[in-house]
Amino acid sequence: MTPQTIKSVEFEKPNLTDPDAAAGGSCVAHAWAKVPPALTPDERQALKSRIRKLLKERNAVLVAHYYVDADLQDLAEETGGCVSDSLEMARFGRDHDAKTLVVAGVRFMGETAKILSPEKTILMPDLDATCSLDLGCPADDFSAFCDAHPDRTVVVYANTSAAVKARADWMVTSSIGLKIVEHLHARGEKILWAPDKHLGSYIQQQTGADMLLWQGSCLVHDEFKGIELDLLRREHPKAKILVHPESPANVVAQADVVGSTSQLIAAAQQLDANEFIVATDNGILHKMRMAAPGKMFIEAPTAGNSATCKSCAHCPWMAMNALTNLAEVLETGRNEIHVDADIGRRAVTCINRMLDFAAQQKANVRPAADLAKESALFSGVGPA
Ligand code: SF4
Repeated sequence: MTPQTIKSVEFEKPNLTDPDAAAGGSCVAHAWAKVPPALTPDERQALKSRIRKLLKERNAVLVAHYYVDADLQDLAEETGGCVSDSLEMARFGRDHDAKTLVVAGVRFMGETAKILSPEKTILMPDLDATCSLDLGCPADDFSAFCDAHPDRTVVVYANTSAAVKARADWMVTSSIGLKIVEHLHARGEKILWAPDKHLGSYIQQQTGADMLLWQGSCLVHDEFKGIELDLLRREHPKAKILVHPESPANVVAQADVVGSTSQLIAAAQQLDANEFIVATDNGILHKMRMAAPGKMFIEAPTAGNSATCKSCAHCPWMAMNALTNLAEVLETGRNEIHVDADIGRRAVTCINRMLDFAAQQKANVRPAADLAKESALFSGVGPA
């Protein structure tokens, strides 16, 4: 097994030198991510067997995001866990009998699971797995921004810390954000949106709502390039374009379907097309190929693997989830997620507000394993 290395990661975050600059500009910031050791096929098989055994012994369930390594996704499904988006990961964990949830994803997903299931033990393969949206939205700066705009309803995306959620009126995911903002706009409310500027601006454009946007972005989706996508489309005229709305506007504008991860997988399965160009983290292609065997999936263009570490269309923090550290946390019980009780109590309000809204609207925020039941539930079908 090769030793673990660290790589530096560059991302854009709001320029926070001026309290109101969060709504106006961004700057380059630096973070780091660990690169998991490469494994031989024998090592992978041995680790998988060990993990299956440890999950049983610990009465634990594995809950994985669509962007993590394919081995972890397969293990989650074959051991009775789930592979899904961040919201369903938390809901699945909350409703499951297991006392221990192992969350393979990034830190805010573990925190959301803990907020919804405070009595359970939540473990993560690596607690340093973070997200550029979370990093770019520090709770104190965000709170000052909210204080400066007290007339606005605060709506935050799931990709935020528990402390940021505790300051919000609503939490939304990409599958239901548009409907919730539509609802708030119809009630005459003005919105303060954080942290993803591209998703916020897409929702603003679709709903016409008055939205003040925090200037965060996802380092993976921010890299998709509109001009190159247009060229690729011409090479594949029959391909449908599937785009996650964290992508820049000139990429979203070319989409046949704009949607959350689960909505894009459902579209790949249900649309009458054999070729798809996909603008989201390439970890999702594993699930798309399983959901739509025989169809062809092409990654949307970025600046290219050799340009920067962030241009490979794969999240460096999602990639920190590996068979090695998963086996270790199951063996040792290390890497437990804790959320301050007061923050958790305040954060759960904005999450439950969304869950209640979804239940009332019969909205689809549940990707689930059985994609066949997802028919006609994805939004944004047709040119965006
Ligand atoms: S893919 Fe983007 S939004 Fe998702 S965890 Fe990574 S940085 Fe955050």
